[in-house]
Amino acid sequence: MKLGIQKKVVISIVIVGMLPLLVGLYLTYLDGKTTRRNSIGASFQELAKETADKIDMVIGREVIDTQRLALSPNIRAAIKKRGSDPALIHYLREFKRYDERAVHSLLVVDSEGRFIAGINESNKGDYKNENWFTGAYNGDKGRVYVGDLKLEGETDVYLINIAVPVMDGGAAIGLLVIRYSVDKLLSVINSVRIEETGHANLVDSSGTIIMCPIFPLRSHQVSSDLIATISQTRPGWGVVRDDAHGGHGSIIGFAPVRSTIISENGWFDGKRWYIFTRQSPEEVYAPIYALLSRISLFGAALIALLSLMGVYAARKIVKPIDELYKGVEHFERGDLGYRLAIKTNDEIEKLADEFNRMAGTIQETYSNLQNRTMELETSEERYKDLIENSPEMIHSVNADRFFVNVNKTELNTVGYALAEMMRMRIDDIVPDDFRERMKDHIAQAIEKGISTVEAQFITKNGRRIDVEVTATALYDPISGEFVRTRAFVRDITERKKLEGAIRESEEKYKNLFDSLTDSLFMLDTEGRVTAVNRKQEEVLGYLRDIIIGREFPAILSEEDRKKFADLLERTLGGNNQPTVEVSVLNQRGELLIMEMDIIGIRKNEKMDFMVIHLRDITKKKELEGQLLRAERFNALSHFSSMLAHDLRNPIIGIRQRLKSLQSTIGTSNPKVTNRVLADIISSSELLLGLINDVLDVYQNSYEDLPLIFSTFPVTEAVEEAIKLLQIEAEEKNMRVCLHCEDRSTAIHADMRRLKRVFINLLDNAIQYSDAGGKVDITFRLTGDGGDELLFAIEDEGIGIPPLKLASIFEPLYKVGKKESKRGTGLGLYFCKVIVDAHCGKIWAENRPEKGAVFYITLPVRGGEGHVH
Ligand code: ADP
Repeated sequence: MKLGIQKKVVISIVIVGMLPLLVGLYLTYLDGKTTRRNSIGASFQELAKETADKIDMVIGREVIDTQRLALSPNIRAAIKKRGSDPALIHYLREFKRYDERAVHSLLVVDSEGRFIAGINESNKGDYKNENWFTGAYNGDKGRVYVGDLKLEGETDVYLINIAVPVMDGGAAIGLLVIRYSVDKLLSVINSVRIEETGHANLVDSSGTIIMCPIFPLRSHQVSSDLIATISQTRPGWGVVRDDAHGGHGSIIGFAPVRSTIISENGWFDGKRWYIFTRQSPEEVYAPIYALLSRISLFGAALIALLSLMGVYAARKIVKPIDELYKGVEHFERGDLGYRLAIKTNDEIEKLADEFNRMAGTIQETYSNLQNRTMELETSEERYKDLIENSPEMIHSVNADRFFVNVNKTELNTVGYALAEMMRMRIDDIVPDDFRERMKDHIAQAIEKGISTVEAQFITKNGRRIDVEVTATALYDPISGEFVRTRAFVRDITERKKLEGAIRESEEKYKNLFDSLTDSLFMLDTEGRVTAVNRKQEEVLGYLRDIIIGREFPAILSEEDRKKFADLLERTLGGNNQPTVEVSVLNQRGELLIMEMDIIGIRKNEKMDFMVIHLRDITKKKELEGQLLRAERFNALSHFSSMLAHDLRNPIIGIRQRLKSLQSTIGTSNPKVTNRVLADIISSSELLLGLINDVLDVYQNSYEDLPLIFSTFPVTEAVEEAIKLLQIEAEEKNMRVCLHCEDRSTAIHADMRRLKRVFINLLDNAIQYSDAGGKVDITFRLTGDGGDELLFAIEDEGIGIPPLKLASIFEPLYKVGKKESKRGTGLGLYFCKVIVDAHCGKIWAENRPEKGAVFYITLPVRGGEGHVH
């Protein structure tokens, strides 16, 4: 760049300098040449005229000399007497001597052309036929004759014959001929010199150069052009192509030798003489060339100076531009942080500032762009990834239904490679029977922008899959022409299967619905019947067509309609309703007792419809009545046997003591009698308590069962229970052991009832143990500050099945009927009622070894309470 601008500036300067220089040179050349030509031409013309005049003068003078000599009487006399005499010869010799250099010879002839006298001339006899004779004699009228330049005989010099008549009495009597050498003429010609190459030439009208300082006489011819130019009657000048001396375009000056052009003279054998001056053009124009070369030199120096200045100026301009360029290169390489430091205080500095500002903006924009690009790339990646890995099949087809893109999911599903699919049409993966539908679908997508179709695809391995294709058309945003579709393909094979299954299951459920043993009514939320099953027709006898659309309560008894209205309201409110008994009118108007379940079916969080189950329990009710009666009877017998069992122990005790009393009446000491009586009284009290318990348990309500609280040692109650069951334990050969830390541990509770609890537990322990077993009873104070009593009774008996551990406390509960032949299932229930009334807890566990443990915790200070 730097070089470019510098070059351009220098070249411009050179051109700007060169052009005027060249034009100036050219104009100077033209002008100089013209001026020079004009002045040289004029001076050459002058010189030629001058030279021609000189020639004329030389010839004229010689003619005059000849004429003067011819006037000599000696000559006339000699002619007349037809012979020379020594005086004439002398006279002539004197004449010749007077002009020795010019006069070559003299000759005198008479009118017959006969030799009279001669100097330097031998007598040739008759001269009548000589040109000069005929010319000068002129039929005795006589005239001056000047002959042409001729090479004379053996002398080998050029001579001019000048003949004049010797007149006598008005007629020519003879002729005087003087042969002049051309030396004088030559010296005239040679005297003309213009610088080095300029000289004069004497030419005759035939084109022969007669005299020239360079060539020998008559040795050269001039061109016809040149002769045409110079053969003018007046002097002039011109430029000729060939100046006969090797000069082209030479300036010549010319002028006629006047005496030669006077035609009546007939001199020089009729030839005219001309002078022309010439100079070699190189010499003529040399000053101009010198001037031009001086100007050129000066111009070149000027241009060189200007160029240097140009280079300097260009450097000044280029340097900051170079800086700019460097900066731009930095920017180009992406180094947008680079800043130009140009302080030229001119437009370039402004430009640099603009560049810097622009770079800043670009940098900012670029980084924004980069971020955006990155975001875009990520989002495109994501989008691509989304499309590629979308669980749905996605493809695109063009207007000819050729695939243009297919995602991985679809490729995996149909089993073709992408490259294969790109050569296929959608028709190729659609079975024949769906092809038309697919064509229509694509056409519709193109026309309307979107279309959905259900069809089938055939995979590469021939499997058919049901698909739902939703195609959106993509159009060219500029031309608006359709480009391709983008279709989401859903595999609906499962759905289709499900639909089939649903249809089947609907069928099934309908059958089920109809074949159910309950009468079913489906009601809308207003309580109107929308469907009934077949059983209903059987049981209630209402025909489907009649009952559908009617209000359901219409078939209920009057009393139950209100009940149903409440149920309906609660069901609509979302509550599950318990089974209720209602009286339903059948088609014949009879009242049937039925169990009714009402179930609300919701759809989308809203109650949709209700199903009513009606089970005819008229017969069951009758049976239940009978069963109840039987059960009551059974319970009574159970109760009797239990009572008998419970009463048996104290009564046996009383009987034995009475027997011992009877046997010892009168003999026993009163102490023993008293102890026996006390035992009898205590057993009777126990009996009474027992009867009271039975009354407690079997009374209709347990509420407000009063507890009689007193504080008593626990050992007392426990030992009394052990004592009561002593006989039974002994019968089974069992040991009952009481362990306690502190025998005085007392409790505030209902002693009589707690004693019943201990008796029941110990009775069970003995009863559900094999003979020879052992029962351990323990109690101690626990809890914070010992305010709780923990009582435990362990046996080595059969234990309780783990799942039944909680149930055994329910009333009338028995684990298995055969284990207990005499049990009522009331014992543990009673225990629980009493312990609960004391705000205590009772539970059972199994011992790891064998047998069961029953635990009771009771507050020591007694929770004042009553049975719940
Ligand atoms: P029952 O009069 O039948 O004894 P209970 O209410 O006293 O009535 O007992 C309920 C049931 O709990 C009994 O039928 C028996 O199966 C079981 N059961 C009670 N105590 C024991 C025990 N110590 N070992 C094993 N099973 C027991």
